[in-house]
Amino acid sequence: MSDYDYAWYQKHSFTPIINVSGTMTGLGASITTPTVADATAEAMQHFVSIHEAQAKASELIAQLTHAEAGCLTASASAGITLAVAGCMTGLNPGKVESLPCVEGMPNEVIVQAGHLCGYGAPISQAIGLSGATVKSVGQSTLCCDYQVSSAISEKTVAAVYVVSHHVVHYGQCPLSRFVELCHEKNIPVIVDAASEYDLTGFLEAGADLVIYSGHKFLGGPTAGILAGKKELIRAAYLQNLGIGRGMKIGKESIMGAMAAMRAWMQRDHKAVSQREYQVLQHWQMATDKIPGIKATIVPDPTGNPLYRLQIDVDPSITGWTAAQAVSAFAAGKPTMIVRDHEIEHGYFQLDPCNLQPGQDREVCQRLIETLSSETPSHFEAADARNGSVNAYLGWIADR
Ligand SMILES: *Cc1c(COP(=O)(O)O)cnc(C)c1O
Repeated sequence: MSDYDYAWYQKHSFTPIINVSGTMTGLGASITTPTVADATAEAMQHFVSIHEAQAKASELIAQLTHAEAGCLTASASAGITLAVAGCMTGLNPGKVESLPCVEGMPNEVIVQAGHLCGYGAPISQAIGLSGATVKSVGQSTLCCDYQVSSAISEKTVAAVYVVSHHVVHYGQCPLSRFVELCHEKNIPVIVDAASEYDLTGFLEAGADLVIYSGHKFLGGPTAGILAGKKELIRAAYLQNLGIGRGMKIGKESIMGAMAAMRAWMQRDHKAVSQREYQVLQHWQMATDKIPGIKATIVPDPTGNPLYRLQIDVDPSITGWTAAQAVSAFAAGKPTMIVRDHEIEHGYFQLDPCNLQPGQDREVCQRLIETLSSETPSHFEAADARNGSVNAYLGWIADR
């Protein structure tokens, strides 16, 4: 039925997965191309000076993002911690070694209240791990200029700005204004853009450091990419002498991330997005006429150049809810994981960005079968809100 080979799952007795949820850490984020996989495997067979490899990565990150410099770390989350730490310590190794103890160092980091999100873990904790203290600015749905300005004091070392579907989407201070207000008081701005396609715009808007995930849209091995002002990048990199040790990236991921960045620069983005859009149109046509189902193609909420198919379920017609359909998809073989962050509103979404060859047809068939049957009513509603913590708590508990 599909061109995709599920043999690897069989070999390891893993549950076969069709991922139409996007780049999810809990599913292994993304699948790399053979070129990226080869670069990773090849590196495992050689020694290399990590400083040399990271210096090459810096050049490549600079080319990709138009930053002065860059470095790689274990994850975007680690990148946030190291960026903040670097703003506190500068290039002083003594201070690097003393973190997370911040005695005698200014250590406040301002963040708009509406940006204090979670991406599987709280961003406030990624900041706090360095020893910094988060100072929340404004209210969750409103942040005024004066609130940003008056939050800055002699204790402030940095400001963090988050670009993500996870943050509140109205009433927030726009990045260029936020940068202006912070730069007026010489405070560097760190942008968490882990899940964004735009690799140049945030630096262009004045950000001093920007953080991306190597394993999300870039399709590399697990890695965090830091890009920005040279002195701040050097300070973040220096944390490898301290708290960065546990967040380090190995040679295999450095080489894999570099291969992924090169591939990104060469990729025919237009052709990929056209192909994905056609898949969505196909699914839409196949499902929109099913009683109680409304299928709409929706743009990405943060302006990434990608679309998803939103399936709204009217339970008064279907006899089951969107959350029950999500469980029915997950219970099938292979398990099909859809995007259910906003399930309480009665819809789920399908993200085509991680589809493997032939899976578009497999998904289409599953959609038609499940959405036009009475079966979902047999399933308990998926609990997206508590599902993730319950999965952690349940891990090996009953084995
Ligand atoms: C995914 C994500 C992160 C964490 O990225 P990792 O590389 O998995 O650590 C941080 N911030 C935002 C906004 C994200 O979407």
